[in-house]
Amino acid sequence: MEWGAENPMENVAKEGRALRPASLCVHVATGAAGAGLVPAIVRSSTFRLDDTVYAERAAGRAERTLCYTRETNPTLEAVEARIAALEGAERSLVFASGQAALHALLLSTLERGERVLLFRQIYGGTVDLCRLLCPRLGVELEFIDANDLDALAPLCDGALRLVLCESLSNPLNCVADLPRLAALLRARAPRAILGVDATLASPLGQRPLELGAQLVYHSATKYLGGHSDLIGGVLSGSAERVKAAWLWRTKAGGCMDPEPAYLLDRGIRTLALRLAAQSATALALARFLERHPRVARVHYCGLDSHPHHALARELLHHTGGLFSFVLRAATGDADAEALRVIRRLELFTEAASLGGVESLASRPRDLSQVGLSAEERLRAGLEPGLIRLSVGIEDPLDLEEDLARALA
Ligand code: PLP
Repeated sequence: MEWGAENPMENVAKEGRALRPASLCVHVATGAAGAGLVPAIVRSSTFRLDDTVYAERAAGRAERTLCYTRETNPTLEAVEARIAALEGAERSLVFASGQAALHALLLSTLERGERVLLFRQIYGGTVDLCRLLCPRLGVELEFIDANDLDALAPLCDGALRLVLCESLSNPLNCVADLPRLAALLRARAPRAILGVDATLASPLGQRPLELGAQLVYHSATKYLGGHSDLIGGVLSGSAERVKAAWLWRTKAGGCMDPEPAYLLDRGIRTLALRLAAQSATALALARFLERHPRVARVHYCGLDSHPHHALARELLHHTGGLFSFVLRAATGDADAEALRVIRRLELFTEAASLGGVESLASRPRDLSQVGLSAEERLRAGLEPGLIRLSVGIEDPLDLEEDLARALA
């Protein structure tokens, strides 16, 4: 059966018509004759004022009033509208980076005395930021293994304010069981917010807000942008929650610049094509690696062998282009061997980040998860010899030959 056929994505209504996600990626809002088909890059940092602007600001509607680009800007609003439609959200806000979006999420939701819970398998930068902020806010930080509802249940009390997970995790491809997590929180900790980092799955893989999450954010630097030429983030949810985050974006100054906002809008137009190709190639490469004698394990949720494969089939419309594998070490130093393999690759570039059109390889234990202690890395499942691949849109056979050569 075709992937995602069990749970086809519902149509999203836009301007009175029902459009599917791939169409929303390219849809051009109707405009007057002579209007451009792509949003203009409005570089102005400031806008002419009149009485209406003063009145709107006095009425608490500064976030919707063109006055100063740190508050809002037409290029930002164009891409925010596109992403909100894709997420099925009341509102989306773009930020200077994924970390800036997370920063606003944390500051707009947490109060002293509350608790945040992270999946142990979440992106390392999320752990790092929470570890910096939570003690200063007087907020307790706890960890559970992905989807461990038994560990979550006793932590559900009046202090639990935020549970953060990745819908599809970097680099182990854990799939968050959002419907069951949301149901448990609704029953046992109704004040708690479920926040989802949907960077790897993208809004075309899953719309977390429809599965019980209250806030969803992305590193737009990755699949949404898709070309490794911008840094950005986006946060989506109800108008009320996003307005609270807007205050932090504006006051802490984490807004996106209009130039990357334009690039982001352009990148999203090809998201459906890119992700379909990247998912298909990633699956082919994961299957190739799973059969390879030098590979001990492959962490790709599209493989039957992945512990979250059934969840992926239930909850994701594609399996994405990022996965990791563990080298079967011939010596006592699996990490050193992993680096040698990475450096023998010719088509995969050794570089950080993911989600671009070009294939990348890295050793995540000392890159994305470097802030964790050695023990924490092992506990999260990041064993020595782990190599992360971000699969691009090159010919799959060229990529397979590259891996075969490097592993030989
Ligand atoms: N979330 C995930 C899953 C990531 O991989 C990253 C960056 O690598 C981030 C968030 C942070 O995003 P940014 O680098 O755009 O700040």
